[in-house]
Amino acid sequence: MFDLVFRGAEVVSGSGIQAHDVCIEDGKIAALVLPGSHVAAHRELAYQGKLLFPGLVDAHAHLREPGLTHKETFESGTRAALLGGVTTVLVMPTDDPYTADAETLRQKEALAYGQINVDVGFQVAMRRGTADVTMLATMGAVSFEIFTADVPPEYLHDDLASIMGAMKSISSAGGLCGISPGDQSILEAWGRLAVSDRKTSQSFELSRPPIAEATGIARAILAAAETRCRIHIRQINSEMGLGALRRLADLADVTAETTVQCLVFDHAVYETHGAHAKASPPFRTANDVEAMRAAVRDGTVSVVATDHAPHSLAEKQRVYEAFGDVPGGMAGLQTLLPVMLHLVGKGIFDLETVARVCCENPASRFGLGGRKGAISVGKDADVIVLDPLRQQHVVNRDQVSKAGYTLFDGLVSAPAIEEVYLRGQSVASSQGLISPLLGEIIRTR
Ligand SMILES: [Zn+2]
Repeated sequence: MFDLVFRGAEVVSGSGIQAHDVCIEDGKIAALVLPGSHVAAHRELAYQGKLLFPGLVDAHAHLREPGLTHKETFESGTRAALLGGVTTVLVMPTDDPYTADAETLRQKEALAYGQINVDVGFQVAMRRGTADVTMLATMGAVSFEIFTADVPPEYLHDDLASIMGAMKSISSAGGLCGISPGDQSILEAWGRLAVSDRKTSQSFELSRPPIAEATGIARAILAAAETRCRIHIRQINSEMGLGALRRLADLADVTAETTVQCLVFDHAVYETHGAHAKASPPFRTANDVEAMRAAVRDGTVSVVATDHAPHSLAEKQRVYEAFGDVPGGMAGLQTLLPVMLHLVGKGIFDLETVARVCCENPASRFGLGGRKGAISVGKDADVIVLDPLRQQHVVNRDQVSKAGYTLFDGLVSAPAIEEVYLRGQSVASSQGLISPLLGEIIRTR
């Protein structure tokens, strides 16, 4: 006797869309059976004409807790995730303090406990010099992050020796290395320009040019090859970066991600959204956007994430000396799925691709493939019910992130999110939250 059966819907996976009835027991997918098959269950729900999509896994989000809770909290960030169909959030370590050792990881877990609306995994930052990677791996950290630009000196790995040292310890602990490709020397050269030359968004683009990304990618892959470290390259968005990735990817165990906003906007977005669009890397040309879309379609870029990095409206709207001084980042958890579905509607991706890059691939790459990322037997029953006959409108006033602002205000997409299940429990609908704070901390084993 199953707990619950979803009847009559079509199930989306990375490899196809098939009619199945979905049987759920103890929060897990217990069976997929032919439509109308005789199965006994305590409860049956009729979802004729609907699509069942796997809960999304966002591999890259900043939830700002501890220390920056005026920007976001575990509760507000994961509420945004839940309403957007993201049922697993992998949290970055760049809060205050950074999550970088057993103590800060334990503190972060304690803060999250009982305050999360979706399942959450934690990533830790590599300090220069030493890090107790083995201990952190035992604690279930989902990745170990190397930053090559834009961070405080103790976390800045701006030379090859430091990158290789960090990768060696990650590799020997069996961990996954997340690495942000950048070039601190170009950033510093830009920083020495007169303030008047740093006022515009164009100058900000020059501080993080495609060649900085491409060099960062090349260096990361070569270091990974040398140290036998598995790496995941963060937030790339340039055609030149893709060129480096394609030519070198065979040398190491490497995956790469981009962000959904870089699949939609080019640098013209600075004219319409100004400071709200400021994030690193900068938005690039329309050509780069096309190249990124093609790379997602052909699998070169296998993960699409949000880089959810909210700031308060007041922080974004203040006057800054240089455009580069505007706090970088924007909200994205609530809009990831609607925007990807919008791109499906425009014929840029198909649903199967979205299931791969937003569900299956991030789950498997970060060691959660046994539980997350697909509607298949044995996995957690994290399921989004989509209604193909209804449209969904993204508007600023519905955003629950403390950012209170989305670049996607006004975007229309279909199908619409009708209901969200987390481990078999109905947690949200198109009307809002149903069952709050049922999220759990998940760990890579
Ligand atoms: Zn980030």
